[in-house]
Amino acid sequence: MNAAKDKFMRFLRSPWIFLVVLALILALTTLFSSPGARVEEISYSEFLDMLDAGKVESVQVVDNQLKIKPVGNPDGGLPTYYTTMTVSDEYLIDQMRAAGVEFSASEPSQPLSILDLLMSGVSLIMMGFMVYWIVMLVRSSRKGGKDGGGGGLGGFGFAKSNAKQYDVQKCETRFHDVAGQDEAKESLIEIVDILKNPGRYTSVGAEIPKGALLVGPPGTGKTLLAKAVAGEAGVPFFFVSGSAFVEMFVGTGAARVRDLFKQASQKAPCIIFIDEIDAIGKKRDGTGFSGNDEREQTLNQLLAEMDGFDPEKGIMVLAATNRPEILDKALLRPGRFDRRIPVELPDMKGRQEILQVHARKKKMSPGVDLKRVADATPGASGAELANILNEAALAAVRDHRDAITQADLDKATEFVIAGSEKKSMVISPEEKRIIAYHEIGHALVAIKQKNAVPVRKITIIPRTNGALGFTMQAEEEEHVLQTREDLTNRLEVLVAGRAAEELMFATCTSGASNDIERATAIARQMITRFGMNDEIGLMALDTVVNPYLDAELRSNASPEAAAKVEHEMKKLINAAYDSAMRTLRENAGMLNKLAEYLLLHENITGDEMKSLMDEEQLSAGA
Ligand code: ADP
Ligand code: MG
Ligand code: ZN
Repeated sequence: MNAAKDKFMRFLRSPWIFLVVLALILALTTLFSSPGARVEEISYSEFLDMLDAGKVESVQVVDNQLKIKPVGNPDGGLPTYYTTMTVSDEYLIDQMRAAGVEFSASEPSQPLSILDLLMSGVSLIMMGFMVYWIVMLVRSSRKGGKDGGGGGLGGFGFAKSNAKQYDVQKCETRFHDVAGQDEAKESLIEIVDILKNPGRYTSVGAEIPKGALLVGPPGTGKTLLAKAVAGEAGVPFFFVSGSAFVEMFVGTGAARVRDLFKQASQKAPCIIFIDEIDAIGKKRDGTGFSGNDEREQTLNQLLAEMDGFDPEKGIMVLAATNRPEILDKALLRPGRFDRRIPVELPDMKGRQEILQVHARKKKMSPGVDLKRVADATPGASGAELANILNEAALAAVRDHRDAITQADLDKATEFVIAGSEKKSMVISPEEKRIIAYHEIGHALVAIKQKNAVPVRKITIIPRTNGALGFTMQAEEEEHVLQTREDLTNRLEVLVAGRAAEELMFATCTSGASNDIERATAIARQMITRFGMNDEIGLMALDTVVNPYLDAELRSNASPEAAAKVEHEMKKLINAAYDSAMRTLRENAGMLNKLAEYLLLHENITGDEMKSLMDEEQLSAGA
């Protein structure tokens, strides 16, 4: 394609041209229309009547028409001129003379001045241009932007993918900014190497991968990893989010994809990062009822672009998702995102490393123990851990300190994990009492268990998330596998809150609802997923629909089996409840002592709890 012509066409389609033309046309029309000239046609007899009444000022004969100017030409709603056809009337001239009407004839049909001609020519061209422009617009939005390059809406610049381009100096992220995730990093190091020395791979005849898919829960550092790849390779980084492709303007998704790859090929070697690719890469259901042609066109364009580009040119497409199961199979076919890199939630060691990475950028008081935070946050994502450190820093600033203390960290941990402390929530002393016994119920049963998971902290200060109190247990070491005993222990601890209420106050409250929910979920999974129930046996009656997001379960059970499952769940939970109740009864003295202490102080640490229990044991033994 002729580059100059291409450039010219693009210029013609630019939105600025459109606006300038519009303004010109408006200016011209106002300039050339004589303001307020109104003409009305009347009959010859009406003209004669006007003449008789002396209402005519002047008459001009133009061709075979009379142009009549009324007297005074008042603005009282009267037209500026009247016209009428001439009739051969030999008396007219006398009549007009008698009435003192000025009359004249003008040359037939006034010729247009050169300026007039010029102006109407220009207007015509402009009109034509506007029509062309509008046609382009309509065509492109109807076809979903399938027509050429920057056409149609592209002219507005709408279809320009708003891929943020980080230039080489600005992409400062490196692998050492990403803590843990060693396996993910290992796969990505190779991609960095390919971007840096593609020749090394092609000379051996190795097929260069075109893309990699980062898969994992939100906040685990997928975006961070992609940026680190760009930073390490020192190449531009095109960031684009999948939802932005389909949400912004109807009909532009495909054009945006095309534009993105075009821009990228000009900047190669570079990285295209598509965040939330599931927004465009969802399975095409082929029913025709999906009602989302837009998304399918965008996906098709993406597939086409991925097939089309030459990996030796140095474009690497990284994408991230937390819902890999809904992706269209076509995306995962060889030559596209054939590489899949899991990015999991950090384990204990990973959490500590993430905290350290973020602590480097903050001022910490000497002796601050990050391991304590890591201990208390099993299941937290990197983003949540970064947030804890940030909250701690904010707390320090609020207190006019210049470094983060352990207390800041502990508070921030609770804040992020369980919602912020909200002291204004009014709780009656009686309610507070019940809450204290409820929490100690959890803690005491936990401590008395074989292989007990240590209790780190108990609090009865309400949280904004609605919890009235909570007991924080630390996983000493995390295990991938949970035994039946672990799970039964969890169940017992969860129902122990309610058991304590029942034992001490012979009542039950709504405060146990969250415990009950969690206990029910554990009991259900033991039976329907883990094969831990003799009645049901080794059958998967539930399957996890969405392992990376909320791990929602789908039931495969027949109605009869479902009834049986519920029966077995009830048995499991009741057994846990009875066992918890027994423990509490046997340790009623301890329960009282700890609960009273908690009522007084509102918080108990694990250590305080231990020394209180030792005291009680001593006095009981004496
Ligand atoms: P994702 O893309 O997986 O949702 P992000 O990469 O956006 O997660 O992570 C959000 C933030 O959390 C990052 O900017 C970083 O501050 C922090 N973070 C997450 N994972 C890590 C990690 N492994 N190391 C250091 N920081 C992390
Ligand atoms: Mg992200
Ligand atoms: Zn509870």
